Amino acid sequence: MAATTFSAIASRLTALARHLYCPILALAVGIVLTPTSAMAQERAAPPAELKQITNDLYFFYEFAGSNAVFMVTDEGVLVIDTRTHPRPGQALLEMIRKVTDKPIKWVINSHFHGDHHFGNAPFKAAGATFVAQSETARLMQHVQAKEMARRIDGFKNQGLDPNEVKLVLPDVTFDTNMTIKLGGREARLMYFGPGQQAGDTFITFPHARALFTPGAFGKRSMPNMAFTPSVENWVKLLEQVAAMDVDRILPAHGDVATRADVKELAAMLADEHATVKDAVAKGMGVDDAIKTLTFPQYKDWRNYNRLAGEIRALYELIQTGKRSYLD
Ligand SMILES: [Zn+2]
Repeated sequence: MAATTFSAIASRLTALARHLYCPILALAVGIVLTPTSAMAQERAAPPAELKQITNDLYFFYEFAGSNAVFMVTDEGVLVIDTRTHPRPGQALLEMIRKVTDKPIKWVINSHFHGDHHFGNAPFKAAGATFVAQSETARLMQHVQAKEMARRIDGFKNQGLDPNEVKLVLPDVTFDTNMTIKLGGREARLMYFGPGQQAGDTFITFPHARALFTPGAFGKRSMPNMAFTPSVENWVKLLEQVAAMDVDRILPAHGDVATRADVKELAAMLADEHATVKDAVAKGMGVDDAIKTLTFPQYKDWRNYNRLAGEIRALYELIQTGKRSYLD
């Protein structure tokens, strides 16, 4: 894969980071501002980088945060996801501006989690038209307060003012499919039903044989189980995605991946779900399940420390069918 780290961009971003006092951006380019424990932890993560996937498709990869994708054409730019807050959103916009001065035409928000749309505001100011699946649009409003609440500490640790976050909702919604044509290219948006959550949007770039995946996939990463209404559908759609005719997976979290990685996650989810379902059927209480079901085969996966929360969330789903986060 042709992956290029833009060191020239990074050095210009260093100046920008100093100008904006933006710790996330500073982190991305390796300079140290006021350290906090969270920042110290994040410093162990690889620095953010911009990878050029094809001549017109770019993958912004931030291990410690959330990713974004943008496609540059003669008619303008299409962006997927805007990071976690208007300041890192602005930093992403500046990064795009180092690549092209074409107008930002479209922004797609891939799912309702705030770390993928709280950076929308600078793109709104830049004149973009916003698109999201209809369930994503609904949930962006419905759980806005909860999405903010679970990010407040992170914002504070990164020196980001929570009051700067403004909810920017989609201008256009779709239910199952939508194709955006721009500059002779196509981005095809697809909804296969709920994966990690209702509204999970997958986007193919046929000319690049690349597929963007939302929160429903991360390579060898234990996902948050608190939102899914159906693990069965999640597994099914990942198997469907793993069978698609694409070469590269560009995920919302984690590095560029392959269809085999998607298949591996589907198998893990099916295994975890079946194991917990079996424990529920045997009458095991949730606290015993957390003590007993340690899934050592996944101990090297990212977010293995989420396991207790995952088991608790699966118990809620299996025993009650409820997703209390979405109440
Ligand atoms: Zn996320």
